[in-house]
Amino acid sequence: MNTYKLLTPGPLTTTSTVKEEMLFDRCTWDQDYKEITQKIRTQLLEFAGASNEEYTVVLMQGSGTFAVESTITSAISATDKALIITNGAYGERIVKMANYIGLNYQEYSVEYNEYPNEEEVRRILEEDEAITHMVMVHCETTTGILNPIDKFARLAQEYEKVFIVDAMSSFAGVEMNVPELGIDFIISSANKCIQGVPGFGFVIAKLDKLLACEGNARSLSLDLFDQWREMDKDGKWRYTSPTHVVAAFSKAMDELIEEGGVQARSARYQNNNRILRERLGKIGIQAYITDEKQSPVITTFLFPHEPFNFGDFYTFVKEKGYVIYPGKLTDVDTFRIGNIGEIYEEDIQELCSIIEEYVGGVTNE
Ligand SMILES: *Cc1c(COP(=O)(O)O)cnc(C)c1O
Repeated sequence: MNTYKLLTPGPLTTTSTVKEEMLFDRCTWDQDYKEITQKIRTQLLEFAGASNEEYTVVLMQGSGTFAVESTITSAISATDKALIITNGAYGERIVKMANYIGLNYQEYSVEYNEYPNEEEVRRILEEDEAITHMVMVHCETTTGILNPIDKFARLAQEYEKVFIVDAMSSFAGVEMNVPELGIDFIISSANKCIQGVPGFGFVIAKLDKLLACEGNARSLSLDLFDQWREMDKDGKWRYTSPTHVVAAFSKAMDELIEEGGVQARSARYQNNNRILRERLGKIGIQAYITDEKQSPVITTFLFPHEPFNFGDFYTFVKEKGYVIYPGKLTDVDTFRIGNIGEIYEEDIQELCSIIEEYVGGVTNE
């Protein structure tokens, strides 16, 4: 079997010990299995810096998008209005959800390489008192920009809006204290920085805000409140749970703690990312996002020269053991490299050497 390491924003490379957890078939109503779910929920609260009096955790089957849509359809009722702040495809996906649900919303969008403007958001909140919720993405995986959610969290508190954050690709990879930030709903999934396998997402929610969601959902399977009510009793999921994925995730969480917690993991990712950008920068492959706005998760790079054949480049790198990601921008030609997952400095050094070899070879031809 040809194997490779994934340098993508998820699913990503996991440890063999995480994968081994999936070799046993577990029973969904068995007490030991239900305890795994409860353990996961408790540990997620700890990673968020939250207490179980103030916050709770809901796990939701499906990919990360399902957990985002579940939150949007459950937290924002027919009489509410959302301000959706976007600077990338994942924010735009939330706008798409709002259209499907028929939500009352306003979109505030900026260029993909820019931060949303705090004063502009303040002006919108001043002008439109109907707004009840603010929604934004933390790390916009489209480009790799890391949005300054603290600024918008403060605005949400000042104007008493419910604050919903898609932190899919940053949770547990970037340090954050959810209660201190005052986030009401924060969403991520099993296959990103916690380094599990894909199959479910999770929502860390302020308890009083979640309790207010009862009856809001326009979807049965995505009803976040109902999912929580069932799960909170004893750890039994409403409808079939992804048992293998849950077991693997529990192991992945233990491994995160063994690594030294979010702080240590974040440091490893930052180091990976710094080396990647520095070495590629030296051979003329520039990042699309400026250093100070760049997340330690994924980087968008501009094509080093024209013509540049991404397919050819991808195959060259893949044959040497690494899989990278195409770009997601429409106006410039880019590719992306993720540096999260079971990826260390030696992998990044090796990757950079492979890319140097490719670029050198192409320019010498
Ligand atoms: C990965 C990701 C999602 C979810 O994507 P899925 O393909 O549904 O798992 C949502 N938002 C962001 C910012 C992401 O990085």
